Amino acid sequence: TPTRRPLMAGNWKMNLNHLEAIALVQKLAFSLNEQQLTDVEVAVLPPYIDLRSVQTMVDGDNLLLRYGAQDLSAHASGAYTGEISGAMLAKLGCSYVVVGHSERRAYHAEDDALVNAKIKAALAHDLTPIVCVGEGLDVREAGGHVAHTLAQLDGALAGLAAGQVEKIVVAYEPVWAIGTGRTATPADAQEVIGALRARLVESYDPGVAAAVRVLYGGSVKAGNIASIMAEADIDGALVGGASLDAEEFATIVRFGE
Ligand code: PEP
Repeated sequence: TPTRRPLMAGNWKMNLNHLEAIALVQKLAFSLNEQQLTDVEVAVLPPYIDLRSVQTMVDGDNLLLRYGAQDLSAHASGAYTGEISGAMLAKLGCSYVVVGHSERRAYHAEDDALVNAKIKAALAHDLTPIVCVGEGLDVREAGGHVAHTLAQLDGALAGLAAGQVEKIVVAYEPVWAIGTGRTATPADAQEVIGALRARLVESYDPGVAAAVRVLYGGSVKAGNIASIMAEADIDGALVGGASLDAEEFATIVRFGE
């Protein structure tokens, strides 16, 4: 089995202007040494308007830091007022783009078909989509969390070839754990993430399943990351609130050390 390099991605959500973004990247660069940034891949996912500033910082200081956006348009270009294309993100040096975050599914009515189209738009521009899946509290309480999350994965990956699936990152983010301070137990996260990986074996092959990194997201903090990373199938974290604090995010990158 190939070893998957852990990925810690900080989703800043709708926080920090382009000047505040520079300050946070500077602090992060100061808090993490080259070895730590080599052992673990670290990415920040700021608002679109911060990307140019983050690019300038990363290029100017040769930082081993990747960055990306929180969403993209499913369309290539044209009359889509307010939207941002994959080509635009690629031109800014983005490596990643979040697709299907639960906040976009909930507040912008994004369904699996749109998520699928956005994944294809990202891959067309060599952006790595971080595809978010996960159940709400009602589904979890009814015991449908595994089936629900697998159905979201199937919908997201519809029509993709094995060689495309290999390139994506999946993030299991139970909605009830996002921004609530309520973390899934490591065993809960492993249950679903193990099932996601088994589905990749079933739908593609063991090589694909071994290559795809699957992250956990939902109230990840410096204090709980070690136990999360101890689980066999969890390859990193998508971190919201705690990624806005450079010290805490750096500690998460070090698995809590
Ligand atoms: C997220 O938004 O992807 C997330 C996991 O948020 P938080 O860490 O704040 O729960």
